[in-house]
Amino acid sequence: MREVIVSEHAGFCFGAGRGVETVEKAIEEGGFIYTFGPILNNAMVVSDFEKKGVKVVESVEELKSLPKGKVIIRSHGVPRATYEAIKATGHELIDATCPFVKRIHNIVEKQSSEGDRIIVIGNPKHPEVIGIVGWSHTGAEVIENSDDIDNLAVNKGEKVTLVSQTTFNRNKFQELVEKIEKNVYNVNCMNTICDATAVRQREARELAGRVNIMIVIGDTHSSNSKKLYEICSEVCEHTMFVLDASDVRGNLPEVDGPVGITAGASTPKYIIEEVQSYVRNDF
Ligand code: SF4
Repeated sequence: MREVIVSEHAGFCFGAGRGVETVEKAIEEGGFIYTFGPILNNAMVVSDFEKKGVKVVESVEELKSLPKGKVIIRSHGVPRATYEAIKATGHELIDATCPFVKRIHNIVEKQSSEGDRIIVIGNPKHPEVIGIVGWSHTGAEVIENSDDIDNLAVNKGEKVTLVSQTTFNRNKFQELVEKIEKNVYNVNCMNTICDATAVRQREARELAGRVNIMIVIGDTHSSNSKKLYEICSEVCEHTMFVLDASDVRGNLPEVDGPVGITAGASTPKYIIEEVQSYVRNDF
């Protein structure tokens, strides 16, 4: 039997797990169920839910023509205007925004209503960042790299509240904050990065360094899974990126020694268990 070591925090983060449980509960209760965007960046999970009647909708417009049901907001959250527009359609809104993301919405809403200028550090195209910006009463600037700071025109004395996308790299956040603090006088920096990503990356690097084959399970659309693959590839020569056990069958490198497994935050437990069982028993 092959030695297989699974990373302690492989798979769903708190927010992803909560989103999936919300959909499962809605299925049990019955009725029409819609998710506002795919519930996770994992095609298999989304397709399993579709088979159970859950429809992914991409816009409020689309909802207007659909039979009344439950609309589930995923862990990334949405702008306040979208939230209100969904409610106005007459569907029941179920908010599965991750509480760590919701906390950022609350900060942005409160501080902007007190007149602060809002800066968000993150990827401006990421749905979570679009959602955060949408809770400011006065708009917000999004900064992703050092050059963006050079274009910031903040008046002396203007009060600024700064927050971060939850999955932003901690070291890069620190570098950007240091530069912003040199250019902007009155800035209240709130580190809103979630530890789930950093913990997974740290564990993956450590595990990849002590096994001979490393398997990263995740969807190619999941940026946190791709990042895990990058990290493991730096440390372990035989690193594989797979969606599920079928990608592993017949493709494991012919190398002896222990096999490590990690998985992105949107990978369900049963897929991790299938891969683990295949490598341990059949290989
Ligand atoms: S990474 Fe953190 S903030 Fe984002 S959904 Fe998961 S638990 Fe929530």
